Order: sequence, then structure tokens, then C-alpha cells
Amino acid sequence: MSPSSPASSTSSWRRDFLTRPIFSIAKKAMPAMSDTEREALEAGDVWLDGDLFTGNPDWSKLLATKPATLTSEEEAFLHGPVDELCAMLDDWKINWEWRDLPPEAWAFIRQHRFFGMIIPKEFGGLGFSPFAHSEVVRKVSTRSVAAAVTVMVPNSLGPGELLIRFGTKEQREHWLPRLADGREIPCFGLTSPEAGSDAASMVDSGIVCKGEFEGREVLGLKLNWHKRYITLGPVATVLGLAFKAYDPDRLLGGETDLGITVALIPTNTPGVEIGHRHLPSMQVFQNGPNWGRDVFIPLDYIIGGAQMVGQGWKMLMTALAAGRGISLPSLSAAGAAYIARTAGAYSRVREQFGIPIGKFEGIEDPLARIAGTAYLVDGARRLTCAALNEGRHPAVVSGIMKLHATERMRTVVNDSMDIHGGKAIIDGPQNYMGSLYRAVPIGITVEGANILTRNLIVFGQGAIRAHPYMLDEMNAIADPDETRGLQKFDQTFWKHVGHAFRNLFRAWGHSWSGGLFAPAPEAGDATPFYRQLSRFSAAFALCADMALLTLGGALKRKEMLSARFGDILSELYLLCGALKRWEDEGRQQADFPLLQYCMESGFKTIQTRFAEILGNLPNRFVAYALKFMIQPLGAPVHGPSDELVHRCAQVILEPSAARDRLTPNLYRSNDSNDDNPVARLEKAFELVTAAEDVTKKMHAAHLHDWREAVQKGVITASDGDRLAAAHEAVAKVVEVDDFAPEALSPIFKHHPLTQTQQDMQTKTASSRAAS
Ligand SMILES: Cc1cc2nc3c(=O)[nH]c(=O)nc-3n(C[C@H](O)[C@H](O)[C@H](O)COP(=O)(O)OP(=O)(O)OC[C@H]3O[C@@H](n4cnc5c(N)ncnc54)[C@H](O)[C@@H]3O)c2cc1C
Repeated sequence: MSPSSPASSTSSWRRDFLTRPIFSIAKKAMPAMSDTEREALEAGDVWLDGDLFTGNPDWSKLLATKPATLTSEEEAFLHGPVDELCAMLDDWKINWEWRDLPPEAWAFIRQHRFFGMIIPKEFGGLGFSPFAHSEVVRKVSTRSVAAAVTVMVPNSLGPGELLIRFGTKEQREHWLPRLADGREIPCFGLTSPEAGSDAASMVDSGIVCKGEFEGREVLGLKLNWHKRYITLGPVATVLGLAFKAYDPDRLLGGETDLGITVALIPTNTPGVEIGHRHLPSMQVFQNGPNWGRDVFIPLDYIIGGAQMVGQGWKMLMTALAAGRGISLPSLSAAGAAYIARTAGAYSRVREQFGIPIGKFEGIEDPLARIAGTAYLVDGARRLTCAALNEGRHPAVVSGIMKLHATERMRTVVNDSMDIHGGKAIIDGPQNYMGSLYRAVPIGITVEGANILTRNLIVFGQGAIRAHPYMLDEMNAIADPDETRGLQKFDQTFWKHVGHAFRNLFRAWGHSWSGGLFAPAPEAGDATPFYRQLSRFSAAFALCADMALLTLGGALKRKEMLSARFGDILSELYLLCGALKRWEDEGRQQADFPLLQYCMESGFKTIQTRFAEILGNLPNRFVAYALKFMIQPLGAPVHGPSDELVHRCAQVILEPSAARDRLTPNLYRSNDSNDDNPVARLEKAFELVTAAEDVTKKMHAAHLHDWREAVQKGVITASDGDRLAAAHEAVAKVVEVDDFAPEALSPIFKHHPLTQTQQDMQTKTASSRAAS
């Protein structure tokens, strides 16, 4: 079209008379953004989150995503070395007696290249896909969280990942083979005492200067730092260090303030102090502080070489965009599946008031939540791994996964603790819950603490990154060339207005018709769920636009509103994961209660968050208008029915293919004599459920003692034997540990007892012997 055509003059009229004033207002309203904020925002890419933000998701894209699968080599590793490693791990001894993994486990981890799972084969690593990496972490964590963290960290955000993406050829050739075979143990130091969540505010510094290195004078950096909480730090041979680089004498010829930089420093470099340990929640993976005082390093210690000085934050944010989607979500999904298996089995074998506790409605409620959560979180994990396998780096989705997987694990761990009662509280080798319970806050805190991620990141980043127009508008506003900026803004802004109007009518129509006519693919019984998601996506896109319009940059400070928007976006994503799982597993009817539970709980959360947003949006006129359109009758908040809760709990109360599908690939010992408490529980569960027909016969005859039932001919002698074996197995499960006083208390060992204490002990010992 020629510049003088009528359409072109209309658009220049629009630009000059309509867009320009809006552009000026937007320019003033847009909050200043630091470089680190911008780099964090721009890291990674947009995927399904972008679709959900359009208000009209294209479901064929979700359904076309190739499910994450393992290669035969990865499968063999999972059932070979991973099982072998798991068999070596005794979580109680690791945490309470040795305070470390046993030396043979360390050697095995190195020998089998667990530290090199993500390192490409050409450098001697295993070259595993993100899904394989996730499955390994998942299985190991069901045996020992300390071991899982040890394996996870070198494959997560750290030197390996940074070298693969940004290292120079020489750095990769030198370090990657050594990291892959465990000759080097890496750690990554970002957090310092003053800079936790706000990691970019670190004071750790590197000054560009000349210094002596291997007998020659070279250009390098003099570093000073204090880091803490660094996982694997105490045993690391190479430290990835983030610091701020300065060049006061302009030796590099540019700015004096160069920005966050990342270098690899061998821990035996003079001036490095490392080795002390923290004790994080009694999980004894190696973790500790480190310091450097006037440590001189040459410039080629910087990852990517001197040209990458100042690029550290961008590098870290890019690595985080993928890494956050794997490690902690895998650990949490494993936790939820492990709990579904153990809490379900325990509720089935533990009887009170003459019946299994799992049959009480009060216990069915948490059991259903556990089963639903296990289904949901693992569905979302698999979906995220599928995207990562395709080479995507969905930053917002990774944040959602980290936050919600760990948060939901916290909920089901608490549920499981309640279900187990004293059995999970009394610590000792027979307690299979306590360690996971103590580990929960670690997952909540690391890789972006959850409160911050929920209130600031998910929607804060999502609204800009995943929104179809927001980032382009912001870039246009920030363009130093105002004429070009206005031109770009004019093009994007009006598309945005059109999009907002389409969503307004879409959201209104779908809400008033209860989503009956909202788009959905043919998905059998799950089709109505897609309709509801389409409806909520439209309402979400509309409300998000209105909040951005009325609050502008102030939305950043309105963390509670931002968190609720983030919750809706997260819920939409997680529910997509559940739907995809249902589809990929071949629409299993027996699993339908689990899917339905996830959907109905998720819809309840979404409706509640909409109501909370509309109740708190500062512009009341807009809030009432939105309420009229999307919730004219208020928020319907039924959630799953009692009947559905009952059916969902049943899935984990009885042995079935559905139960096995819900809890695949957890570590299970092949040793039938294994006195591991989970193996004992599985055995009791099998025996109790297999003897159910016998139990029913006894109940029908109002008998409780199997011996009497045999005597009266109600059951056969062999039935009696089955019941006896089941009772014996249950008694072992219900047992908890006790310890001699001197085994628990060092004070007891070193100080003589008072006479009264000694008397009490003797009395207890003799009464025990008698009983
Ligand atoms: C066991 C463990 C292992 C770790 N491993 C490593 C490692 O290997 N390498 C490494 O560099 N670091 C590591 N960390 C550090 C971890 O990433 C930090 O602990 C985390 O970033 C939080 O920092 P903080 O603990 O100082 O909490 P703070 O930053 O003090 O935060 C305290 C609370 O305030 C909240 N908060 C902060 N800002 C906001 C905001 N704007 N809005 C709302 N809420 C906010 C947080 O969410 C949190 O709930 C590890 C930590 C632990 C505990």
C-alpha cells in the first residue's frame, strides 16, 4: 500500500490523533524496569501459557504435543543403575547416623555418570532428555531426598547447564568430560546473606585488574564474596560463582559497571574457603557457605570468556527457564505419588473402631485430595517435560510448575501426616513419612521462594511475556526513537483493543451460557471440561486486560491481585496437564474420577479467585461490569461432590491397575525379605486386600477372632492362615521405633544418671521383659 493511499492516511490520522495521547499516558504510567528485570522477563520462550492468555486456546496444539517417553537406553538406566543406587540408600542411616550418603553411593553415582545426565554424549555424559532426567530424580527421591538432591543439582541450574549453553569450546572440552564422569563435583553460588530472593542485589564483586596466574601477568578479576546455602558446596571441586564485575580503570575499554557475571572457579584456588556445612531440615545433602578473599582469576574463567562479562543474569535466567520445570516438579510429583501409594495402603490396613480407617469419610477426604493431586501434578510434569523434550524453554510454565508442584506436595504431605497419626510422627527407621515432611520447606524455598513466585513472578511475568501484545507494547513505549516507538505502538495497541473486545463478548457469552457453547475438541467424557477451560480462559484474558488497563504499572505492587491472577493461569495450565494425561493414557475409565476431581477442584479455585479479584479490583465500576459479565450470580463453589470424593479415595484403597497407573516408577524393592518400611506396608496391603473375602465372611458371622471363626467352621483353616499372615504383616506396619536413652542422647552417655532415673530405667526394662 502506498503511503498516500486512503487507508494509510486513516492510520496516520489514528496514530496522530488517537494513539499519540494514549502513547504519552502509557509512557508516563509505565514503571521503570531495571536491566535484570528485563532480562528475567525476556528469558525463555512462550508456549501453552501464551495460548491460555489469548482467551481462545487452540486445543489441537495441546493434543498434538508428543507425549514425553523414554528411549530404550534411558529405560534401561532407570531399571538398572537407578534401582541399584536406590537399593544402596537407607534414608534413616543417611540422615541420622552417617549425616551423608555412604561412600559406596557417592562412588556409584560418579561411576554411572548420574552427575552427567544432561551432558551430551560427545563429552562423555549420558545425554538424557529432560523427561529421563526427571524420571531419575523422581525415582531416587522416593528412596532418599538427600540422594535425589545430590543427583539433581549438577543436572539442574549450575556449571554443567551453563557450560553447555554458553561455555567456550575450550571450557566445554575441559570441564564437561570431567563433570560427566564425576572427577569434578560442581556447585553453583548465587545466594548471599544480603541477597536471597533479590539475588541480583548481591554485593559479591570482581574487579578487573592485572595479576599473576601460572607465573605470568594476565588480565583478570580480583574476587571477594560470601555465599551461603550452596548445595554440594562443601564437597565441590569447582564453584560456579555469580558476582558483579567492575572495571574502574577501564582495562576492558568499556563501562566501569559491567554487571552480573558468572565464572567457574576450582575450589583449590588460593583464597577460596569452602567446606563448612549447613544442616537443612535434617536432610543431609551437602550444603554450606563459602567465601573468597581477594581471589585472583584470569578472564577466561568467565563462562563464555571475556565477551560474556556482564551477561551472567541473562545466562542464569535462561537456564532457570528450563531447569525450574524439571527438578523440583519431579521431586514433588514423586512425593505425591509415593504418598498416594503409602497413605492409601496404610488407610486400608490400619483399622480403628473395627474397620479400615480409609473407609471413614473423614479420611476419604484427604485420600481423595492425595489421589487427585498425584494425578494432576504428574500430568503437568509430563506435559512440561514434553515441551522441554521439544527444546522449548517455557519460563512462565516452569515458574508455575516449581510453585504449584512444591505447594501441592506440602498439602498432601500434611494430609498424609494426619492420616498416619503417631506412626508418621515417631521418628526412626520404620517411619517412611518424616523425612519427606522435613524436606518440604526446602522445595518451597529454593529456586525462587514460593510466596515471591506466586505474588510477583507467575502473573507478573506471564502478563507481559505470555500476553499476545503486552511485551510488544512495552518495547514500543521504551523505544528511544519516539517516532518509531509510536508507529509500533499504534500497530500493536489497536490489535490489542480488538482482542480485548473479542474477549469481552466471548467471556460474556460463555459465562452466561455456563460454557455450554465454548470450543472443545472431541474428548469423550472429558469434552465438557475443555469447554469450561475455554470459558475460563476468555474470562481470564478479559479480567487481566482490565486490571492492566486500570492499574497499569501499579499492578506490580498489588501482589495479592497478581497472585490471584497467577493462580488462575496456573490452574488452567495444570488442568491442561491432567487432560493431556487422560488422553495420553488412552482415556482410562477407571481413572475418570481422578480427572473429574482435579477438574472440579480446579474450577472451584478458579471461580473463587475470580470472585476475590472482582471483590478487590480498585476500580469498582470496572469490577462490577466484569462481575455482571462473568459471575452475574456470584461464584459457584461446589467443588467435588462427596460421592466423587468417595470414588477417588477408592482408587488408592484397593489394588488395581488404576492405582498402579497413578503411581508408576517409584522405587520398589525386589527383595522379599526387605525390612524397608514401605516394602512391609506393600506386603501387608497385598495380604489384607487378598484376604478381604475371608474378612467379609467373618463380619457376616459377627466374628472378630479368626481362630474362633475357624473353630466354628465359618472360615477354613487355610483362610485362617491367610488372615493370620495378614494380621502379622499389619502389626509390623503399625510398629514404631523406640530407642534406649543412651542411643538418643549424648548427654545421657557422658553424664552419670541420677539414682531416680536409673531406678526408672530398670523398672521399665523389667516390666517390658515381663510383658
Ligand atoms: C537447602 C537450600 C539449598 C539451596 N541451594 C542453593 C544453591 O545451590 N545455590 C544458591 O545460589 N542458592 C541456594 N539456595 C538459596 C535459595 O535460592 C534462597 O534461599 C532463596 O532464594 C530465598 O532466599 P532467602 O532464603 O534469603 O529468603 P528471603 O529472600 O529472605 O525471603 C523470605 C521470604 O520473603 C518472600 N519474599 C521476598 N521478596 C518478596 C516479594 N517481593 N514479594 C513477596 N514475597 C517476597 C520470599 O518468598 C520468602 O518467603 C538454597 C537454599 C536452601 C534453603
